[in-house]
Amino acid sequence: MTGDQPLYQQLRGYLAELRLAAAADKLAEHLYQAQQTKPSYTAFLHALLRVEVDATDKRRRDGRLRLAGFPHHKPLEDFDYDAQPGLDRRLVDELATLRFIDTKSNALLIGRPGVGKTTLAIGLGLKAIDAGYRVYYTTAADLVTRTAKAIHDGRWQTTMRFWNGPQLLLIDELGYLPLADDAANYLFHVISRRYEHGSIILTTNRGIADWGTIFPDTVVATAILDRLLHHAAVITINGPSYRMRRHQARVDQLRDSLADPTRPPSTGGEFS
Ligand code: ADP
Ligand code: MG
Repeated sequence: MTGDQPLYQQLRGYLAELRLAAAADKLAEHLYQAQQTKPSYTAFLHALLRVEVDATDKRRRDGRLRLAGFPHHKPLEDFDYDAQPGLDRRLVDELATLRFIDTKSNALLIGRPGVGKTTLAIGLGLKAIDAGYRVYYTTAADLVTRTAKAIHDGRWQTTMRFWNGPQLLLIDELGYLPLADDAANYLFHVISRRYEHGSIILTTNRGIADWGTIFPDTVVATAILDRLLHHAAVITINGPSYRMRRHQARVDQLRDSLADPTRPPSTGGEFS
């Protein structure tokens, strides 16, 4: 390749100027390999540009992931369905196809603390990121606080556009704290603006019948539910808390041995 050296340098310069940095990096390696394997011109160029396309895809995915603000990145594939036999897995699989984002539908995940609502929501969010959708994670409390601050700072429109921006908005932990009048209204505005416009996955520890206790006003509660549920999958997780399950096993053992004093308590029974 020695005779080609000036041409090589120029080519590398072209790639850099066109901002094809990944292809520029791999140029020498690909040329060397091509000399050994003699691919067609098309195959050679295809392989080189493929490097650039892959690098661009990865950069964009990393960007979407950073902007999504997930508190962790546990993939849906790691979810232990055996721990929640009552969970409608078919519905989760259906959501994982992400069709619901294209139809601007919602998903409501309902269950007690620790049953895996946030984990499922993030697992689905990660799938959406991989598929190229813009996703944003927030808690209900954070959404309300940020909206209140925006109003205070005269940035209501900008903030409403922000909440409307992602194709999938995850609103986590509704119902852990009761909402004040204003807070309920902010949530109502965010949900109404997104209605038939973008998807929401909302997690809550309150069954729908209990929503009156989250909101100060049943009219607002009903209006929010109407919009959320019009096109929605509702997933209820009734099983035990995953977080507590190791402790629970110990508690059950202890209870059994207390009920039957002839049975020795299990070894290593200390709580950890
Ligand atoms: P929730 O949001 O319902 O309170 P989380 O999703 O935060 O519950 O789950 C609590 C903890 O238990 C997390 O560390 C989570 O990764 C884990 N977890 C819960 N359910 C499962 C599950 N089915 N498979 C694997 N890990 C789970
Ligand atoms: Mg949670």
